[in-house]
Amino acid sequence: MRLLRRGGVVVLALVALAAPAPAAASTAEVAALQSALQGLRLYSGFVDGIKGPLTRDGIHTLQRRRGLRVDGIAGPETRRALGWRGRPGLGSRVMRSGDKGWDVAALQFLLQRAGQGAGRADGLFGPLTREAVARAQEAAGITADGLAGPVTIRSLRSGAGGDGEAPPTGPVRFLRPVPGPIGDPFGAPRNGYTHTGVDIPDPEGTPIGAAGVGTVIYAAYNGGGYGNLVVIGHRLGYTSWYGHLSTITAYVGEEVVGGTRIGYVGSTGDASGPHLHFEVRHYDTPIDPAPLLLSTVAARPATTLRRGPSGGCDGVNRARRARARHDDWIAGERLCAER
Ligand SMILES: [Zn+2]
Repeated sequence: MRLLRRGGVVVLALVALAAPAPAAASTAEVAALQSALQGLRLYSGFVDGIKGPLTRDGIHTLQRRRGLRVDGIAGPETRRALGWRGRPGLGSRVMRSGDKGWDVAALQFLLQRAGQGAGRADGLFGPLTREAVARAQEAAGITADGLAGPVTIRSLRSGAGGDGEAPPTGPVRFLRPVPGPIGDPFGAPRNGYTHTGVDIPDPEGTPIGAAGVGTVIYAAYNGGGYGNLVVIGHRLGYTSWYGHLSTITAYVGEEVVGGTRIGYVGSTGDASGPHLHFEVRHYDTPIDPAPLLLSTVAARPATTLRRGPSGGCDGVNRARRARARHDDWIAGERLCAER
């Protein structure tokens, strides 16, 4: 094992990999580690490929429980302690439907980052992952066979936002439209289809905030099950969808920023109780919003968007940006827009 120090953070490069990986390639490996820890309920953060304190805590707990040396490093022993989730290494086989393990989770992370959401990065190669692989292959001009071999992995790694380059804008992030944890996840089986968003249960009448900067492109009742629905168009082909609202307060053409109130939680349409159905689409393909969600909740009084006490709008934006991730440009852009 090699330890590479980058920006003051220790990043792991695992020799179990088929090829000597460049330093930055470890992001997919960290994502696989986070996915494995999440599967063992030792990690509650996002599968974002960034090894932060939560990830280290998860490794520590695992190592302590298994009587391993508690060093926070996912070495061979620790990888073994992860069971099927800890193997095999990315690139050691051609992945296909039914496969599971470390490499599948890494693949799912790479797909997510390429904008070809595969649902949760859970290490299980199911239908959503297969479709995502085929989409990514088609986008890259590779034979779309849904099998993830070396060519597909290399293409995912070198594509936009790939490991080989520092992405100019970073991954897209959204604010949480309402408070509370996610109930029904993306990809959950439904009657003859899979869940295209996430459900966040909240009391009827809870205000809903726009998840990021954009323009309202739909604000009406939808007969397809969404009930009262608001759709916001963002940049780079992203749209965010808010379903089952009791009341819509947004209008088509309205320019919103993160936190602009667009309506209230309800149970209109195909809903058994009050909750927000939150969906994110990339070029009209639903993707798992969970990994894109910041911890910050968007819904808040509109007055907090006005000029701050010091530094005016810039000061407010700076403070918010510092709290959020530096690369959350959809969520954070123009947070303090004049209204
Ligand atoms: Zn839903």
